[in-house]
Amino acid sequence: PLTFDSLVQAWHARTDANPQQVALRYFDGAMTAAEVDRASDALAVALWETGTVRGDRVGLYLQNVPHYALALLALWKLGAVPLLLNPMYKHTELRALIDDSGAVGIICADTDVAETSNTVANGTVRWLISTCARDFQTENDPRAFPEKPAKQETDAVASAVADMVTLIRLHDGQAPDPITLTRSDLALLSYTSGTTGPPKGAMNTHGNVLEVATTFGAWAGLAPNDVVLAVAPLFHITGAVINCAISLITDTTLVFTGRFHPEIVLEAFPRHGVTYTIGSITVFNALLELPHAGTGHFASVKTLYSGGAPIPPVTVERFRDRLGAYIHNAYGMTETTSGVIAVPSGTVAPVHEPSGTLSIGRLLPQMTARTLDAAGSPTLPGEQGELELSGPQVIPGYWNNAAATAETMPGGSLRTGDVAIIDDLGWVYLVDRLKDQINVSGFKVWPREVEDALYAHPCVHEAAVIGEADAYRGETVVAFVSLKAGTHATETDLVTFAKDRLAAYKYPRSIHIIDDLPKTETGKIRRAELRGKGHS
Ligand code: ATP
Ligand code: MG
Repeated sequence: PLTFDSLVQAWHARTDANPQQVALRYFDGAMTAAEVDRASDALAVALWETGTVRGDRVGLYLQNVPHYALALLALWKLGAVPLLLNPMYKHTELRALIDDSGAVGIICADTDVAETSNTVANGTVRWLISTCARDFQTENDPRAFPEKPAKQETDAVASAVADMVTLIRLHDGQAPDPITLTRSDLALLSYTSGTTGPPKGAMNTHGNVLEVATTFGAWAGLAPNDVVLAVAPLFHITGAVINCAISLITDTTLVFTGRFHPEIVLEAFPRHGVTYTIGSITVFNALLELPHAGTGHFASVKTLYSGGAPIPPVTVERFRDRLGAYIHNAYGMTETTSGVIAVPSGTVAPVHEPSGTLSIGRLLPQMTARTLDAAGSPTLPGEQGELELSGPQVIPGYWNNAAATAETMPGGSLRTGDVAIIDDLGWVYLVDRLKDQINVSGFKVWPREVEDALYAHPCVHEAAVIGEADAYRGETVVAFVSLKAGTHATETDLVTFAKDRLAAYKYPRSIHIIDDLPKTETGKIRRAELRGKGHS
């Protein structure tokens, strides 16, 4: 893929070399590369007829369904830009991204047509294409496809709604005029998770995605005929790139299982002989909590990755001990077009001695990393500092936001806002987000380290640690914890547990047990939302 100019070119090379290979699977449904190519050609023609042209943004407001792959390919074939939209977004969130991106159309689930249509009324959107999660398979597993709500009335752009499968059938055998794309054309418009502020639109180019697909693919040991499970949400850069794009342009089969359902995901591993996937800590915790999950489910697996959020070492240990598969850590950002530092397949990540942090891995080839002190000068080797990344995975900038681009990517180098240590063997340890550091009487405390200690308690399901203002110490460490279903622990039990494992200034002085921690749609715990809740 490094020699290709665009994802379309890379896709054609794959399809031409091996047209009969199964490219997509969805329950009992399967499509060969040639069939996917034909269907995405037909869809591209239908999109062209709506007036969609090169550079136009089109929202994908979908779960992990095979329509996603067809839409990505069809849009790329026109030089249009898929805009990744979280299917859980409600009116205001959706409208904000539509207005910011100026999307011309939206591809959404049939069950969302009415609401979406109302949401986008009187804006830039001219058409909607609807999809049915039951397409492309015949099993209709009730766990995956709950009863369909009755059709609601639509207004505004409803007259311009068409069904994707129908459009593909109507245009079967037709293909769009070929266009010449370059590596700097946009391949995706993906918004950051919004953990630290409002989401920003990252402009991921064809060159960015091709780069990651090649280098991460090599790091992951991805080989022809591998079976890739799309479990990370496709609306997030990691799902779209590391699961979907990487598989489409490699000789592998991509498996979809629809909206996330732990049991269906568990069953998909042996059923399809899954060799590779990337998910979030939430996915692995959910699998770990299924009582009937066993080593047999993961017999075909070569490489598992967890990315996007910290993973406590104890989760990796429990997964390996109980389910026989090792979770490789991977670090990525929307701005680095997903994974940029990862544990190479087949290697076990070292743990940083003093802090107990699991390494996030090694830097992918073609990229450069430095750690900077508060003044912006490089720190000494092995010393912590803000991680700065440069190279071909870094986006050229944020959409419609020159100020944020200038601030975060001065001179094209990305200030990640994360603090890291790079050891002399090239292993990287992610200390935490710079903004989340807690200052207790001048002692610096990183919330992640305290969270890792809490996760080691058998009752702890999730943990988040923040600093609260304290008249005497400046700040004090406070934790919020949710417990595993059916377990019991008191706040005092947890404080004692943490006190035994952490230095006196680090252990949380108070721990609040709550039902659920606030999260972003990608499953990241939003520490910021907990600030100020410690006293209530
Ligand atoms: P926003 O930038 O809108 O505030 P966000 O930074 O969470 O949100 P993403 O681009 O989805 O948006 O996430 C990137 C961040 O996720 C990284 O900067 C890092 O803090 C965190 N992260 C990613 N992978 C890992 C990992 N393996 N371990 C720890 N943290 C990780
Ligand atoms: Mg960020």
